[in-house]
Amino acid sequence: MIELPPLPYAKDALAPHISAETLTFHHDKHHKAYVETVNKLIEGTDLEGASLEDIIVKNASKAEKKKLFNNAAQAWNHTFYWHSMTPKGGGAPGGALADRIKADFGSFEKFAEAFRNEGAGQFGSGWVWLTLTGGKLKVEATHDADTPLAHGAAPLLCADVWEHAYYLDYQNRRPDYLATFLDHIVNWRFAEKNFAEAKAHSKAA
Ligand code: MN
Repeated sequence: MIELPPLPYAKDALAPHISAETLTFHHDKHHKAYVETVNKLIEGTDLEGASLEDIIVKNASKAEKKKLFNNAAQAWNHTFYWHSMTPKGGGAPGGALADRIKADFGSFEKFAEAFRNEGAGQFGSGWVWLTLTGGKLKVEATHDADTPLAHGAAPLLCADVWEHAYYLDYQNRRPDYLATFLDHIVNWRFAEKNFAEAKAHSKAA
């Protein structure tokens, strides 16, 4: 059994950038449904006691487990996304992550431009990520439920670009949602912590 973690802040805490209505539907309906589907699919199997991370990694390349992979990845991605945001977020990262962003992207603004462009350019549903991949920071978009976790990369930060993440607040204006995400709600403390942990666990970092 996996759990639906509560949001790490109140439903109205990200307003006006992301409304309480969006967070209510997104967490209580969408995220909850992914968790419930995973639990239905693992019930009575040898994955019943597995962690969500293990379920994702073990089923990433199994075509016959696509439904389980998709729901497990969506369950994990959403928890990671909630923590990628914070009330009074935005601004720029500090410390080692700030230095590495400058080294790998040229400047913070170039990183931000890449993140906005990759997210806005993702055709259809998906996610945009900042990852540590093979010792280098990378901005990448993934399709549908896919997650860097399944491909050996360390996710540092993500934004959900499925329409359900922004449509009530921004309608079709995905670029405005992504600009607002970076300007006002991104949680750089979370990304800094993930970067430190990824470096500690990877010789290549
Ligand atoms: Mn979503």
